[in-house]
Amino acid sequence: MAKKQYRRGSGPVAAVLCLLMTAAAFFTTGRLDDIENVLGPLSDLQQAFAPAAPVEPMDGLLRLHCIDVGQGDSFFIETGDKTLLIDTGEADYAQHVIDYIQGLGYQKIDIAIATHMHSDHMGSMSRVLDQLPADTFLTTELPEEMTPTTRAYEKLLDTLSEAKNTQVEAARPGAQYPLAEGVTLTIIGPLEEYDDLNLTSVVCRVDAGARSFLFTGDMERIAELKLVESGAHLKADVLKVGHHGASTSSTREFLQAVSPRCSVISVGEGNSYGHPTQRTLERLVEYGAVYRTDLLGSIIFETDGDALWLQSERGEGRTEIG
Ligand SMILES: [Zn+2]
Repeated sequence: MAKKQYRRGSGPVAAVLCLLMTAAAFFTTGRLDDIENVLGPLSDLQQAFAPAAPVEPMDGLLRLHCIDVGQGDSFFIETGDKTLLIDTGEADYAQHVIDYIQGLGYQKIDIAIATHMHSDHMGSMSRVLDQLPADTFLTTELPEEMTPTTRAYEKLLDTLSEAKNTQVEAARPGAQYPLAEGVTLTIIGPLEEYDDLNLTSVVCRVDAGARSFLFTGDMERIAELKLVESGAHLKADVLKVGHHGASTSSTREFLQAVSPRCSVISVGEGNSYGHPTQRTLERLVEYGAVYRTDLLGSIIFETDGDALWLQSERGEGRTEIG
């Protein structure tokens, strides 16, 4: 399906995102000309885990970096062509995320997604996008009454308003964005308007050849069940576990629909929320290994579209996991 164009909502749904888009559209010039020149070949990862063990260069389709940002989420995807950033963690992690991505050799991002407007996902988004401008920025369109009033959100508005080459779009279920030959980003959710920010999380999948990765933000039970009922394509090899492994996410129905081969939880060591919960872990292990950033540090998944490899900051090196 071709990339959908954003159409402005009406009434209360119009919200601040419309203002964002209006501002960004006004300043947008020559974006398409820039995109062609953005990325060279996949970089090697010598600096990603520095000073950890050297990482073998890849010749595959995709690398997913689960950047350790403590209690928060930040995922960076490299392909042979475009890059995708999903969340950036708390404000304190801005420089860490910038250094990590620049250490891979990138000076800009093709698509940036803020899954939702909680600071553990977008607290450092403005600073990251200041240093690594995005061609496209996606997030869920919020009704006016849910517009955040946080400093992080205001700074993000400022950054996006000043970003002359950033196209700001609402994340629309069904919209697809090609990232490289054989690699596609598809927006899946949210399917409804919700009055809880976690439930507004952008849900998306990235398919690379025969392999697939599902990202869920902090989506919780109600939104998970809605997706299952809808018949959305949820099956995926790697599941980014919703809401850091909280018990209010990863319902049995949802996990059955995804049937992951393994899962990854981005979570802070000794966090005060008790994430991930034992009950959630017990549900997840029925579907294979659970990789956690609090235990492994940053984690990299890699695929050539067929095999799947994993390496981590505190692990033993690159190993094939399926
Ligand atoms: Zn979160």
